[in-house]
Amino acid sequence: MSAETTTTERPTYVLARAEVLAVSRVSPNFVRVTFGGDELFEFCTPGEVFDSRIKLVFPPASGILPPLDRDTGDWWGSYLAVPEEERGSMRTYSVRDLRVDPVTAATEVDVDFVLHLAPGLSGPASRWADAAAVGQELFVVGPRRGVPADAHGGAEFAPGSAPSVVLVGDETAAPAIARILEDAPRDLRGIAFLEVPSAEDVLPIDAPAGVEVRWLPRTAGELHGFEVIPAVLSYLGDADALQEIDLTDVDTEDLLWETPDYSGLGEEIAVTDAPAERYFWIAGESSVVTTLRRHLVKDLGIDRSQVAFMGYWRRGVAMRG
Ligand SMILES: Cc1cc2nc3c(=O)[nH]c(=O)nc-3n(C[C@H](O)[C@H](O)[C@H](O)COP(=O)(O)OP(=O)(O)OC[C@H]3O[C@@H](n4cnc5c(N)ncnc54)[C@H](O)[C@@H]3O)c2cc1C
Repeated sequence: MSAETTTTERPTYVLARAEVLAVSRVSPNFVRVTFGGDELFEFCTPGEVFDSRIKLVFPPASGILPPLDRDTGDWWGSYLAVPEEERGSMRTYSVRDLRVDPVTAATEVDVDFVLHLAPGLSGPASRWADAAAVGQELFVVGPRRGVPADAHGGAEFAPGSAPSVVLVGDETAAPAIARILEDAPRDLRGIAFLEVPSAEDVLPIDAPAGVEVRWLPRTAGELHGFEVIPAVLSYLGDADALQEIDLTDVDTEDLLWETPDYSGLGEEIAVTDAPAERYFWIAGESSVVTTLRRHLVKDLGIDRSQVAFMGYWRRGVAMRG
């Protein structure tokens, strides 16, 4: 999300103070928070929600939200203008559901937060979600109603004419995958692999009948990727690769972000006119996504232009906005 404005000078993104309307523990490791309030009325994705991302600003230790200037149109500048100790923390989340009243434009946004609370492995967003209560407030940055932010308004899911999809994610990507499947055309075909912390974290998804939803619960102590990497590689017929996987081999790269039209690694993206048979969308812990990328692109020769590889978080690294 950049902070540009349109020619009509309506800020491209909404920076809204939002109020917690409801909190629900939907499973042991997910809490669903519903946000609303007058300032959210201008929030709306330009098309289907799919995997639209939003930024959330959590209060600092004082519990007092920073005094962000909502009128400048520059949400990032407005955040940075606040002294660091008062600024709180900004993190990225997905829209699990968006409800807009057609008459009043009253808007509600559901976000599914993963609770990762182990000492040393937690962060301000997860801790806030664990204690969230009706009436609390935070800031939401997202697309503004009627102003197409860019080609996709924060959503990356773009299968084009591919008749089938392969969606892969861990618990942080499960809300986005669920929304993609619920917004997708009902004749979509394919498979979704969702790795979650436990069998109790399997949540209902209203997926098209032609998409198999395969939940992969970890057992206690297993690293992220332990279930999903072998499942995806076996499905794609790359059994040889299974010998080489070392999930403890965590490097210090930044988050991987490689989509058909953007390369965080600075790679040149070849434009191909050939219609893709299959579109891949892969998100989650960055080293797991990197491992899958290596096998898909290098070993299986899957065309880069058919895959979105997105590191949503990184083991051992706190995100910064
Ligand atoms: C486009 C996008 C969409 C996302 N959508 C969602 C979503 O809908 N729901 C959601 O829960 N997350 C989502 N995430 C991931 C979320 O932004 C990160 O998990 C973020 O690090 C959480 O912030 P924090 O303050 O809790 O932890 P941080 O302060 O960022 O990190 C603190 C520590 O916690 C560890 N950590 C972070 N996340 C996890 C985790 N899930 N499990 C175990 N350890 C972790 C870090 O490695 C670090 O050691 C999304 C990320 C992106 C980029």
